[in-house]
Amino acid sequence: MNILERYHAMEYGPAPEARNEADAWLAARDFSKALFIDGAWKAASGGKTFETSEPSSGKLLAKISDAGAADIDAAVAAATKALPKWSASSGYQRAKVLYAIGRAMQRHQRLFAVLETIDNGKPIRESRDIDVPLAIRHFIHHAGWAQALDKDFPGHKGVGVVGQIIPWNFPLLMLAWKIAPALAAGCTVVLKPAEFTPLTSILFAEICERAGVPKGVVNIVQGGPEAGGAIVNHPGIQKIAFTGSSEVGKIIRKATAGSGKKLSLELGGKSAFIVFEDADLDSAVEGLVDGIWFNQGQVCCAGSRLLVQEGIAEALIAKVKTRMSRLRVGSPLDKNTDIGPLVDATQLDRVKGLVAEGARQGAVCWQPDAALPSSGYYHLPTLATGVSPANILAQEEVFGPVLATMTFRNTEEAIELANNTRYGLAASVWSENVNLALHVAPQLKAGVVWVNGTSMFDAACGFGGYRESGFGREGGREGMFEYLAAKLPLGPVIKQATISAQPVEQADGAAIDRTAKLFIGGKQVRPDGNYSLAVATAKGKLAGEVGFGNRKDIRDAVSAARACKAWPEATAYNRSQVLYYLAENLSGRAGEFAARLTELTGATPKAAREEVDQSIERLFLYAGLADKFEGRVHQPPARAVTLALHEPVGVVGIVAPDNAPLLGLISLIAPALAMGNTVVAVPSEKYPLLATDLYQVIEYSDVPAGAINIVTGRTAELAGVLAKHDDVDGLWVFADAETCAKAEAWSIGNLKRVWSGNGRSLDWASDEAAGDALLRRAIEVKNVWVPYGD
Ligand code: NAD
Repeated sequence: MNILERYHAMEYGPAPEARNEADAWLAARDFSKALFIDGAWKAASGGKTFETSEPSSGKLLAKISDAGAADIDAAVAAATKALPKWSASSGYQRAKVLYAIGRAMQRHQRLFAVLETIDNGKPIRESRDIDVPLAIRHFIHHAGWAQALDKDFPGHKGVGVVGQIIPWNFPLLMLAWKIAPALAAGCTVVLKPAEFTPLTSILFAEICERAGVPKGVVNIVQGGPEAGGAIVNHPGIQKIAFTGSSEVGKIIRKATAGSGKKLSLELGGKSAFIVFEDADLDSAVEGLVDGIWFNQGQVCCAGSRLLVQEGIAEALIAKVKTRMSRLRVGSPLDKNTDIGPLVDATQLDRVKGLVAEGARQGAVCWQPDAALPSSGYYHLPTLATGVSPANILAQEEVFGPVLATMTFRNTEEAIELANNTRYGLAASVWSENVNLALHVAPQLKAGVVWVNGTSMFDAACGFGGYRESGFGREGGREGMFEYLAAKLPLGPVIKQATISAQPVEQADGAAIDRTAKLFIGGKQVRPDGNYSLAVATAKGKLAGEVGFGNRKDIRDAVSAARACKAWPEATAYNRSQVLYYLAENLSGRAGEFAARLTELTGATPKAAREEVDQSIERLFLYAGLADKFEGRVHQPPARAVTLALHEPVGVVGIVAPDNAPLLGLISLIAPALAMGNTVVAVPSEKYPLLATDLYQVIEYSDVPAGAINIVTGRTAELAGVLAKHDDVDGLWVFADAETCAKAEAWSIGNLKRVWSGNGRSLDWASDEAAGDALLRRAIEVKNVWVPYGD
């Protein structure tokens, strides 16, 4: 090739990153003692090992000790022993340790990057410029949170010993996202990396030794699902933080049900990449490269569904194909490589299988005409067009370099298509019209939205999903809450209801009038089953009858709550006015409610009146806070502002306790309403007449139909129906321990957020049972990234 030909070809020469240091590190280590427990290196007690190999060649890298239950026991014991001193150390002391970790990582930045690339297969450009610098930033950022803890999180302290389980796609970065906030909060940790990518976690443990992390504060155990399961089920652990597939996330949700363990789940995704016709198409194409071909598409928030407006579809697809033809597939250690191998042969088979099935279901799969390296787990970048919304490539997380394309006609259709997924992790919106982009962003059911950008992350900005993408956030202020616990004032232990009265059949005529109905969609309706339950006074006489709600009634109530748009779309000021109005109308009937309380519970008239007054006060409180519990604006180290918006969770099921039957119910309904949620409430089984008396108060207070729905009946049964209902987004359960545990276990269908009292109620009269602690549960934080500059 002469110079002129070379000039026209503009081919990149090889630019391999040196791996000598990484190879020397690999050769020097004894990986049969790779468990870092209590500050020492240990072999697995059962003597087992597993292999980790290099995705670009399939060659064995190391045989690593494979932890069993006894090793997890030892790690938890070490973390438990280290906890009192670490949690009592000052914020400054912990900050110094976090900062020292960050600085030590900086000194070994290149080794981390090369090891990560060798072990995982991701291009060195990515591990060098993204994974490792972001991981370091995470530790340094969280040093600040350690010191700010007392001031910024009053009344909170670390949850205790934390079990953390992470995946293989960002091994070091996920480790940083887990360990940094835990240490800042004063927790000690047992972390298990993924079995495909153990290496950088072992180097990290060496860094911990050098950075002065006290023994037992960080324990890193290696292994697969068995070790993971032993962590999840260990009684000595107070919180589980999991990142991985939705499938395993559901197993963990079920396994921890009723255990009282705090849980955060960062799971899979099927994120939409929406391009409107006024977008800068060349930027959008570059965005796609970062969105779906970053890390070979093995990214939870990968923009794997391209939704493009009809008029520009052809032009955009043509540009995408041209760009795809220029993606360089090859050795991940080459600095010019765009696409490296997938992590493992099993992953490659899975991706190939999904592409074949997508094609069988009608998608047209296109790949650039490029040669693949002769060994290693490579897959060409793939573009699927003609994808129907039901196609497997539009629905399933492929976790590979595969982009599924669909078109839309208008904004409404774009939003509908984007939300047509069981996931809700991220989305990307491309338009030169900022009004349009910011109109669309809040309507997307996703925890992160990037405007004219994609795959932007920062330690100060929360990351996490909705629906089957899991719950909880990592990063920022909201991420710190995941490792903190506030002492809520406990109320009595709740016993399983033992109602002696049998259901009575509703009669026609006069009897019907005495029976309180259900309150659904703004109307009083008869229960589906046409049965009622007898309610007793404190003296054992018949106080009245209430509707015996069943599964069908809950379904109707959830539909009504979902259909109510007027409430979530109302301004915070409007919601505040309605809550004030509710308070006003309740106050007008305070005497009547107090008398009812006395009649049913036997409370003294003074105590009953106090409970009513407190209920009115609480409505006032949340009316006032409705327009004050607001989001924030972050300024990450990028040319972008990040709007951390507070959004309602959606439809929230509330199972109210027996203690303080009016105040308890109002203390739960009011914060949910204040933040724009619609509610399906199951009032106290024993004292439901207090809730049914509220119907008229609600009717006179301008509450839109469907914003509050009340279904009376058996607590355990109705809580179960709410837990299993996939259109309920959040569930707050104050019931007996068994009902709480079942509600958690049954919530896995759509992974709704469950807040349960674990068989205890709260002391509703206490100030701590009101305010931010509840409002935080009534919202999701959505981070919307808006870049600026030309
Ligand atoms: P995975 O769920 O198979 O494994 C994740 C981790 O869980 C591994 O460490 C594994 O050993 C462990 N594990 C497996 N079975 C277990 C069990 N029964 N009990 C306890 N632990 C168990 O996921 P993966 O294939 O390693 O990772 C890919 C998945 O991770 C994708 O779905 C991806 O979207 C998700 N992910 C999510 C985020 C996020 O922040 N939302 C980030 C990265 C990856």
